[in-house]
Amino acid sequence: MVELTKALRELERLVCPVCRAKLRAGDGSVVCTGCSRRYPIVDGIPVLLVDRAG
Ligand SMILES: [Zn+2]
Repeated sequence: MVELTKALRELERLVCPVCRAKLRAGDGSVVCTGCSRRYPIVDGIPVLLVDRAG
């Protein structure tokens, strides 16, 4: 879970690219606290691309 921990540390500096709300940790992904979009974590890095969000 080292990679995930690193990703979660990154989260403190990141915001949702859609609505600029803060992100929180989900299950293998990050979840926007504003619009509830889910972004995947790939190789330990949150991928904040709108076309990858679910
Ligand atoms: Zn959002």
